[in-house]
Amino acid sequence: MKKIVLIKLGGSAITYKDTEKSPNLKVINRCMKELAELKNVHPIIVHGAGSFGHPIAKKYDLINGLSEERHQDQIVAVARTRQHMLELHKLVVDAAIENGLHPYSLPASAISYETSEGKYNFFGENLTRTLRLNLNPILYGDIVMSDLRHFTILSGDTIMYLILEWLKGTKYFPSLIVFGSDVDGLYTDDPKINERARLIETVSIKDVDAAKNNAKHSMHDDITAGMLGKISAIEKILKFGIEAKIVNLLQPGRISSLLSPEFIGTNFQP
Ligand code: ADP
Repeated sequence: MKKIVLIKLGGSAITYKDTEKSPNLKVINRCMKELAELKNVHPIIVHGAGSFGHPIAKKYDLINGLSEERHQDQIVAVARTRQHMLELHKLVVDAAIENGLHPYSLPASAISYETSEGKYNFFGENLTRTLRLNLNPILYGDIVMSDLRHFTILSGDTIMYLILEWLKGTKYFPSLIVFGSDVDGLYTDDPKINERARLIETVSIKDVDAAKNNAKHSMHDDITAGMLGKISAIEKILKFGIEAKIVNLLQPGRISSLLSPEFIGTNFQP
């Protein structure tokens, strides 16, 4: 059986975050090509929203759910955000097919909802079925319904955790977790702001909590907590006893070298 690798394509890499609804087709295409060429690897793919989701979600405060005063505008914004996400998702699925992968789209909005603060019901039955068939499940950060606030945003980083929770104890549990972003990995400080920030190559589980102090909210309109949200998701993921990596998708070859000694990025050890 091939190695299952769960990889997230960060919205900061697959879109131009400063221009609304602007896809980085070159990066999307290269990621799929490199994934398809990885020997003996079966990818499960999650992607972020970047400029297709965050600006509108921020403007209408969609992460905090329904507010009485903004009810009408928010409902329009929910529908629009989902439409934008479907547009980006289509581009990602197209690139996956063109490069020889077999994507099977599983929108989180259809297979999950929030039950209480930060807790989700995630119906992964079809995820397992698609893996059995050698398809590549592909999910994305999305609006989901909520028992608590009517609707909210479920980030790609959190979906990574939900997938692992679902696959725990099955033969499809991934052997590697990858977060692709627009920076080489976790730095001592935000490298976009502090030019003296240094890349941290290895972080062990006992140091992850301290590593959170290095990670800042994203500079962009990222409403799902940027690098900080990612490290929090990684902290929970390491508890499954599996390693996680952050890599830079803007640089060619970083996916190709994921499993080689030439790997460049941050390696989180359980
Ligand atoms: P993605 O959309 O790829 O999931 P985010 O935009 O949410 O990624 O987070 C990545 C961003 O986090 C980087 O572009 C960087 O500016 C910011 N960041 C903040 N603190 C750090 C840090 N300590 N190390 C690396 N990046 C950081």
